[in-house]
Amino acid sequence: MLANELGRRGIAVVLVDQNPGTTQNAAANATQARTMEHFRRLGFADEVRALGLPPDFPTDIAYFTRFARHELARFSLPSSRDARQIVTTLSGSWSAAELPHRCNQKFIEPVLRRHAEALPGVSVNYGCRMTGFRDLGNAVEVQLENGQTIKAAYLVGADGPRSTVRQALGIRYGGETGITRPFVGGRMYAVHARIPEFYRAVPHRPAWMNVAFNPARRCFMPAVDGRGEFAFHTQLKPGQAENSVTEDEAVAMVQETVGLALRVEVIARAPWTAGHSLVAESFFRNRVFIGGDAAHLFTPTGGLGYNTAVEDAVYLGWKIAAVLKGTASKALLGSYEAERRPLAGLPAARATGPASARRTAQDAFSGAGRLVEPPGP
Ligand SMILES: Cc1cc2nc3c(=O)[nH]c(=O)nc-3n(C[C@H](O)[C@H](O)[C@H](O)COP(=O)(O)OP(=O)(O)OC[C@H]3O[C@@H](n4cnc5c(N)ncnc54)[C@H](O)[C@@H]3O)c2cc1C
Repeated sequence: MLANELGRRGIAVVLVDQNPGTTQNAAANATQARTMEHFRRLGFADEVRALGLPPDFPTDIAYFTRFARHELARFSLPSSRDARQIVTTLSGSWSAAELPHRCNQKFIEPVLRRHAEALPGVSVNYGCRMTGFRDLGNAVEVQLENGQTIKAAYLVGADGPRSTVRQALGIRYGGETGITRPFVGGRMYAVHARIPEFYRAVPHRPAWMNVAFNPARRCFMPAVDGRGEFAFHTQLKPGQAENSVTEDEAVAMVQETVGLALRVEVIARAPWTAGHSLVAESFFRNRVFIGGDAAHLFTPTGGLGYNTAVEDAVYLGWKIAAVLKGTASKALLGSYEAERRPLAGLPAARATGPASARRTAQDAFSGAGRLVEPPGP
């Protein structure tokens, strides 16, 4: 996103990413209205809205005991086709030019990459690791693993939660971590899988976000492509060793939550930690900036990590371009931290605050021992 913002303004950019390509992980699933507006400004909102679920697939959020058993509640939300239409008729307090879009990050990143690569002056390099840098005062010198050195006016570390750049700057995260609760607080287990018979076997209307509550297991499971691909996330039970979960056990966790022994084809699976609410104590030192997860890390409830990362890039993009073009003084760059850091605290609070993860966990578990599952229909 930052390469797009800078490249559009005629600023030369070298992007390096140690991964072989854009993410294959089914992580973020929710693009907020504001992010869609930024994509619209850059000219590719329609391209993004065409991705992910089929155009007529409802983006409902639905709650079940098990997906093939009782439906408990449902928020009805429009399909992407309806969203295009609805936004033209909205009035009153809703002033966004785009509605949110439920689409997995793995589909969106290639769009950002393609548009960045098409810009003159933008060089996108995957499979290329940054190993270190030196702030020279009037430039930054960046060392790459392949032995190359790059000299640039500024360096931005959008290098994720373990950010090499943040750590090299000696900037620490502040806030809460290691928050444990019965759900989305502690060690989670992700199973990215295909369940080809899901929509034929499950007797409920499709939903984008499927949430299951039952005494055996809780999970949230967004639909990735609306044709049987899902990102299943459950919390491991106390004492359940994450590294010894076998493929059969992962499949059994999914089947148990569906409530039917459907065929589950595992694409990827891994443990991850929920329960972070962290914001870096500073977002820059001199010519070196951090943004995205490098600068703030939220438990992914509320769909904010990727959206906040996009917004960081938007803020940094126009400011760096204005300074490099001489239309603003260097002091403008300090406003990045002044504006973004307090805002990063809001999703952090929201992700663990009453509206989200903590509430999700408490509401259903305030009577943990009393959660009784009725027999299947
Ligand atoms: C299960 C789950 C669900 C989520 N759901 C949502 C959601 O619905 N909505 C939402 O907004 N967010 C969600 N998120 C969060 C979202 O995925 C992240 O906030 C987002 O990916 C952050 O983007 P980023 O670019 O800052 O970091 P990353 O996506 O982590 O990218 C960092 C990149 O830096 C590269 N890198 C690191 N070190 C180096 C180095 N030394 N040299 C070169 N390259 C390097 C890495 O290869 C990586 O590609 C979710 C996360 C998870 C785990």
